[in-house]
Amino acid sequence: MSVAHDPSTARLTARLTARGIVRRYGGIEAVAGVDLVASPGRITALVGPNGAGKSTLFDCLAGTVRPDAGRVVLGGRDVTALPAHRRVRLGLARTFQQIAVFPTLSVADNVRVGAEQPTARRDRPDPRTVAQRTADALRLFGLQDLAAEPAGTQPTGVLRLVELARALAGGPRVLLLDEPAAGLDVAQTARLVSVLRGLAARGMALLLVEHDAELVAELADTVYAMAEGRMVAGGPAPTVLADPRVTRAWGAAT
Ligand code: ATP
Repeated sequence: MSVAHDPSTARLTARLTARGIVRRYGGIEAVAGVDLVASPGRITALVGPNGAGKSTLFDCLAGTVRPDAGRVVLGGRDVTALPAHRRVRLGLARTFQQIAVFPTLSVADNVRVGAEQPTARRDRPDPRTVAQRTADALRLFGLQDLAAEPAGTQPTGVLRLVELARALAGGPRVLLLDEPAAGLDVAQTARLVSVLRGLAARGMALLLVEHDAELVAELADTVYAMAEGRMVAGGPAPTVLADPRVTRAWGAAT
């Protein structure tokens, strides 16, 4: 483990590892024994056609779905048996495919919920830290001018950024992003790309599930490709994205 550079997010970096993950639904093996590593300082993408098992694997990593077999290790600690909120305390944050914000709360209060997140070292951050983290996360996504607005009145693109800001306000070591660019316009996508690159440069491990092939090619250092519950390929982005097994399974679907 190495130390992150930014003092405001000074927490140890962490690797997220999945080994032999299996998850069945009835007779279907949604995830059929897959391995994946999301490393500090890297952007890792998980791709594949609809029904490949990406969301199920993602949920196993986040802790909202318990695998039938396999292990999830976060920063050297086996978290397989830990529920999602305990993983959050250990520095694992996520965003959702279906946007999940509190519509009656203001944009700033939605982000504050993330900033108030307890960590493994501290039950609850002090109010000054919460205010600072909230302000930093709002600024990161250019949301300062909308801070007082009720979240429920904002368009989808803004809500995606609010969700991201909330996930980041807790100072995670690993960030899981489920289709982060869905609903974003060109300018918002450009901001997203630049923020995610900046986070990786500061040592965060990022894992995104993404359908947009161009965005994956632009952002990802490492790509894993799933099809029918199995990992078809994994490695450096240019190699995997040019792999005929991947273009056959995924290219046809995009
Ligand atoms: P998409 O890109 O459409 O989100 P995906 O790659 O994320 O697809 P999953 O949503 O993980 O794929 O689904 C993998 C398989 O598991 C599919 O056959 C799906 O129908 C099945 N599945 C997923 N969740 C459940 C569930 N809660 N109950 C039953 N079957 C499920």
